[in-house]
Amino acid sequence: MKFDTVIIGGGLAGLVCGIRLQKAGKKCAIVSAGQSAMHFSSGTFDLLGRLPDGTGVNAPLEALKNLPENHPYSLLGEDTVRKYTEEIPAFLEECGIRVSGDASANTWRITPTGERKSSWLTLGDFTALKSKDEKIGSKALIVNILGYLDFNTKFLADSFEKQGTECRIVAIKLDEMERLRKNPSEMRATNIARVMDRDGVWEKAAEQVKSMIKDEDVVVLPAVFGLKDYTVVDRMREAIGIRTVFVATMPPSVPGIRSQMSLTAEFERAGGRFLKGDAVVDAEFDENGHVKSVGTQNFGNIRLYADNFVLASGSFFSKGLIATPDKIFEPVFGVDLSYPEGRDQWFDRNFWNRQNYISYGAKVSKFLHASIEGKPIANLYAIGSLLAGSNTLYEGCGGGIALITALAAADSILEK
Ligand SMILES: Cc1cc2nc3c(=O)[nH]c(=O)nc-3n(C[C@H](O)[C@H](O)[C@H](O)COP(=O)(O)OP(=O)(O)OC[C@H]3O[C@@H](n4cnc5c(N)ncnc54)[C@H](O)[C@@H]3O)c2cc1C
Repeated sequence: MKFDTVIIGGGLAGLVCGIRLQKAGKKCAIVSAGQSAMHFSSGTFDLLGRLPDGTGVNAPLEALKNLPENHPYSLLGEDTVRKYTEEIPAFLEECGIRVSGDASANTWRITPTGERKSSWLTLGDFTALKSKDEKIGSKALIVNILGYLDFNTKFLADSFEKQGTECRIVAIKLDEMERLRKNPSEMRATNIARVMDRDGVWEKAAEQVKSMIKDEDVVVLPAVFGLKDYTVVDRMREAIGIRTVFVATMPPSVPGIRSQMSLTAEFERAGGRFLKGDAVVDAEFDENGHVKSVGTQNFGNIRLYADNFVLASGSFFSKGLIATPDKIFEPVFGVDLSYPEGRDQWFDRNFWNRQNYISYGAKVSKFLHASIEGKPIANLYAIGSLLAGSNTLYEGCGGGIALITALAAADSILEK
C-alpha cells in the first residue's frame, strides 16, 4: 500500500499532523496501536505551567525564552510556537473540539482532587478560572451519581471550602444506572456517559439535580456527559438552570475520549485511513538511508510505503519508548534518544516527586527530523510526547508540545 505519509501513533500529535496533511491534499495513513494519553485527559491542553527549575508560569509565551535549548519549543523557536498557538484554537474548533483560552496568560483548571492547575486551552465542558484562588461560587451543590467512586466529592468540598465556598454533597440515583452498579468495575466514566447520553436519562438526572438545589448558586457535577458530542453537556446546563461546573473525574476521561473521537472522525472525513488496533513493528530503509516502508502486525507481508513517515508513538506510557534495566530504546526505527547512562538517575523512588525519565526521548533537528546513529533521516519526523527535552508532566506542557510539533512537522512536509 502506498501513501504520501504514514503516521505511527494516533494520539493527539499523530491525529493533528494527519488532519493537517490530509486537508492539504496528501494521502495519509495513521497506524494506531491502542489508547492514547487523551483517554486520560484532564480536560485541558497545557502550553507551559512551570519552568524546569520549578518557577510557576503565568504568561507562557513570555516564558519560552527561559527554556533550555533542547526543549521542543526552543528547537522550533519562539516565533513558530507563537504562530501555532494563535491558529490552534480555530483548528480544534474546526474538528468539533470547543476550547477557550489564550497563550498569553494561563488560566486555572480544577483537578479531580480539587487542586488548581494552570492550563492553556480548556475544553468546552470545563470551567477556566482566572486565578488560582477564584471561588467557584458562594454555595456549591456537589452532586455525585450513587455508586460512582471515581469522583471524590469530599476532596472537592474540602478544597472549595478553603476558597470560601460553602459546600453540600448529594447523590442522584437513576434506575437506568442500576445494571452498572451491580458490578462496581462497570461503574466507570465512559459507561456512565453511555447511559446518560440516552434521551430520557439525562433529563431525569437534570430534574433530580434541580430538585436538590436549595440556596446554592453553583452545581458541581462529574464530567460524565457527552461521550460523542456536547449536546448533553449543553442540555444539562440549560435544564439545571444555574451555573453548572463539570469537574474532571479519575480516568477514563469522557471529554478526552470525545476529543480523540472528534479528531479521528475529522481525519477520516478528510479522506485519511485510520488503521485502528494495529501496530507498526518494523521499518525498511533504502540505499540512501531513507525510510522506505513499515510493516504492521495486522498487515503481515503487505507493507506500507510512503514518501514521509511521522513517528508519533508517544512516551513510555504508550510504549513509544521502552526501558529495560540498562537501556532505553524506541522500538520501531531505533531512533537516537537522549537519556543519561545510569538507571539511578532515571527515577525518584518517591512517586510524587519529579521523575526524570519523562524528559527522555527522541533527539530531533529543528525541523523535527529524527536521526539514527547520529545521521538525520530526511523523511522521518518525530513529534509529540516521544520527544526529548521537556518533562511534560512537571512543566505542564504536554498538550502544547503535541499540537505544535504536529503542525510544524506537517508544514515541513508540505513545504518539501
Ligand atoms: C496519563 C496522561 C495524562 C495526560 N493528560 C494531559 C492533559 O490533560 N493535558 C495535557 O496537556 N497533557 C496531558 N498529558 C501529556 C500528553 O503526553 C500530551 O498531552 C499528548 O496527549 C501526547 O500525545 P501524543 O500523541 O504525543 O502521545 P500519546 O497520546 O501517548 O499517543 C501515542 C499513540 O501511539 C500509539 N503507538 C505506540 N507505538 C505504536 C506503534 N508501534 N504502532 C502504532 N501505534 C503506536 C499508542 O498506542 C498511542 O495511541 C498526559 C499524559 C499522560 C501520560
